[in-house]
Amino acid sequence: MDSLADLESRAGREAPAFGARAHILCDNLVRIFKPEGATGVEVVALQGLDLLIGEGELVAIVGASGSGKSTLLNVLSGLDVPTAGLARVAGVDLLSMTPRDRLRFRRFVVGFIWQQTARNLLPYLTARENVALPMRLAGGTARRERRARAGELLELIGVADCADRRPGELSGGQQQRVAVAVALANSPQVILADEPTGELDSETSDTVFGALRHANRELGVTTVIVTHDPLVSEQVDRTIGIRDGRTSSETVRRTSSDGGVIAEEYAVLDRAGRLQLPREFTSALSMEHRVRLELERDHIGVWPDTRGDESND
Ligand code: ADP
Ligand code: MG
Repeated sequence: MDSLADLESRAGREAPAFGARAHILCDNLVRIFKPEGATGVEVVALQGLDLLIGEGELVAIVGASGSGKSTLLNVLSGLDVPTAGLARVAGVDLLSMTPRDRLRFRRFVVGFIWQQTARNLLPYLTARENVALPMRLAGGTARRERRARAGELLELIGVADCADRRPGELSGGQQQRVAVAVALANSPQVILADEPTGELDSETSDTVFGALRHANRELGVTTVIVTHDPLVSEQVDRTIGIRDGRTSSETVRRTSSDGGVIAEEYAVLDRAGRLQLPREFTSALSMEHRVRLELERDHIGVWPDTRGDESND
């Protein structure tokens, strides 16, 4: 017969870990920037951020400037190492990578697109050569093979006509679409884009989002786009809001039975039970410092603290 210890250890084993099946997982992620000199203050850019993204999902991340979006993407792309917590992308633990693992991860597992168009492409190479370059660095493919695949990717992204032009001969939108093809060159499992349309007008932005969405649908690559553009949320499965270095809200879009699109907004409840109330809600009811909670049959009520400072008496 099983001893109690056996049963306990089995129960522990069988309970799936948090986000065990997620393609991208952040658990209590912290990134603190320490000042260089003796003066200056530490910045806690990520303050215990939780995030789960499934394989093949297309997700937008929105949030005010300084809320930690780029810090998060830099961690997920293997460029930056978090201070504490857990971060895993496509099964790779980002905190325990050796420099060699990191290079491999950045070359084969993730593709990255920056906001600055000039940062994505080499100016003296044509679009096709830019897309072929990551394959060349990875090795193992012949020049003809690389050129053919680069052509296919440019075609998939809708910029086949730009193949033989250099970045200087392309519009900003075309450059960013070529950058999507570059990011896809080594068949990554995840694409990360940090405000890829930040320098573009809204019409041109649409074509770049269209390209990312197309790549997501056609290739099944998990895609995370940081953006300021409120219209983007209409083009993705899920929009995740970040506030002060934590995920704070989610908008999930789904198609209703009559074919219309329904957007439902949620607050994120983290594993410690914390939840951020929208500032508009708390200020409308002058809620600050503490609130009164009541458990009802099917919901939790949150009331302003009307007892004022009584507790201080
Ligand atoms: P976002 O992309 O949402 O605008 P960031 O992730 O760039 O925000 O920045 C989050 C916070 O971390 C900001 O307060 C920013 O000043 C700070 N920060 C980002 N990178 C660094 C760095 N390398 N050194 C010091 N502070 C940084
Ligand atoms: Mg940023």
